[in-house]
Amino acid sequence: MTKMKYHLEAIFNFSGSLPEESQEDIQQFFEEFTEKIQESRKEGKFSITSWERKDSNLLLVISSIESLLPHIAILRIRKQLSAIIGKKFRIGLRGFKFSKYTIETELDDKPLKEFTLPFTKKIKFSEKDDKNLVSIEIDPAIPEDFVEKGAIERIIRRVNEKVSKQHYGAKKEHHEIVWYSGEKKQFTDKNPTQLMQKANWIQRTNYRNQFILTPTITTLVEALKQIMVDSVYKPLGFDQMMIPKLVDWSVWLRSEHAEGIYQGGFEPYFVVQPKEPTPEYFEEVADYITITKTIPDDMLYDKITAPIGGLSYAQCPPFWVWLQGKTLAKESLPIKIYDWSGPTYRYEAGSAYGFERVDELHRIETLFIGSPEQTKEIGLQVRDKLRLIFEDVLDLEFREAKVMPWWLQQSAHEEEMDEADDLVVGTIDFEAYMPYRGNRDDSEWLEMQNISIIGHKYPKGFSVKAEGNIELWSGCGGGSFERFLTAFISQKGLEKENWPDTFLKYIDKLPKPVKFH
Ligand code: ATP
Ligand code: MG
Ligand code: ZN
Repeated sequence: MTKMKYHLEAIFNFSGSLPEESQEDIQQFFEEFTEKIQESRKEGKFSITSWERKDSNLLLVISSIESLLPHIAILRIRKQLSAIIGKKFRIGLRGFKFSKYTIETELDDKPLKEFTLPFTKKIKFSEKDDKNLVSIEIDPAIPEDFVEKGAIERIIRRVNEKVSKQHYGAKKEHHEIVWYSGEKKQFTDKNPTQLMQKANWIQRTNYRNQFILTPTITTLVEALKQIMVDSVYKPLGFDQMMIPKLVDWSVWLRSEHAEGIYQGGFEPYFVVQPKEPTPEYFEEVADYITITKTIPDDMLYDKITAPIGGLSYAQCPPFWVWLQGKTLAKESLPIKIYDWSGPTYRYEAGSAYGFERVDELHRIETLFIGSPEQTKEIGLQVRDKLRLIFEDVLDLEFREAKVMPWWLQQSAHEEEMDEADDLVVGTIDFEAYMPYRGNRDDSEWLEMQNISIIGHKYPKGFSVKAEGNIELWSGCGGGSFERFLTAFISQKGLEKENWPDTFLKYIDKLPKPVKFH
């Protein structure tokens, strides 16, 4: 491992000129400061290589090899020096600025292309003795409070992550088939979206990837809901609740979705507010629309805020606001809930998709929280019950795959990921065969549902604790009715004669589609 090397040139600013007499005090302080660091760390080398008084400024050069980060030193020096100088010379320490800060370290992977980051001036890659090195030059304009709150450390981490992602991005997410229903008789090889559209069960709206769900298809959705209740939620003791569907940034900051924004895995619809919610403020817009019967985009842009967050994307993050900062009583564990109180929104990039990939989807979310043992046990139970639905009730041909999504790769502990268990921290996807896409081996199967054990990510992120210091884990899973039905129709077609009795049992009467002339 190549050593981490830091070079920092900084300037402290004081309320007045530093007098000649302060020279010795400062010198002594720096010597003691350096000694203490050297004593407390067995390895590495920390040194204040030079310093100089210049009017009301103190110029300082720090070099550190595998030792205390110089900006941390600066924060400590600020505190201690301001006490010394303030007391003895009645001069206040105002703040600090960097004039140059470079960090050299080794990377885990070989960089494939250059990039920049906020608050960096230059990121230079090099190779030496088969090692991939990087030199990061921090932008001296980085605000003091970002430095205090750990931005420098995160810049270093982010550089490494981005380089690793250049490799990972090209690969597919880890995908391993762990269970298969076996071949089932297929009743159609037609495109299910087209079948349902032709039969007037669903209809596209004017908006991208959005469908109207007619009474016919809604009856099937309701049947599926009842099946979920009867097969999963009642036997396992889950309660229904209503999670908010408008999500402000504070939630996505804590769930860490915000940092993955449009990076492949989090593509939210944004929500904005009016700058002023008054009739006067919007009068000209109203007039314009009235006269032209068109929407004045530019006029509107001026009158709205930046996004305050977005529409429900993964359903469960806003759930955690309920428990945020609280300590759960032991008797309340485990918590088991489900939610289908509103749609989920995703900006699905690319061309128009079918019913299986919509921008407004109707998901049912399953969520559980408890000790690691409880969470693992419930995760396995939910997985068994879901299999029962797809296998015994819907009679689908499907498989289960163990996957590791990006957002889990980021947060999962490596030791947890390496476990041989089927479900420790990780995800199981349920994927249906879709005959219209081709043969079983080569075609893409459709993910209908997943179930994840997430570990401590959410309890940590939302500062949730449990009585008696019980470690808290969570797990969750989602599946959309659009995916369930697309999978079902793609295998069974529209004719009820070909549908299993176990499903038909849940349908009293299928409303006749409205006909158009
Ligand atoms: P995909 O890789 O197919 O886009 P995903 O990994 O984005 O799926 P998840 O974020 O894991 O999906 O969401 C869980 C479930 O939500 C999926 O199993 C599926 O049932 C449903 N789902 C996700 N995106 C859509 C969509 N655009 N339309 C309909 N259902 C969706
Ligand atoms: Mg997706
Ligand atoms: Zn979830």
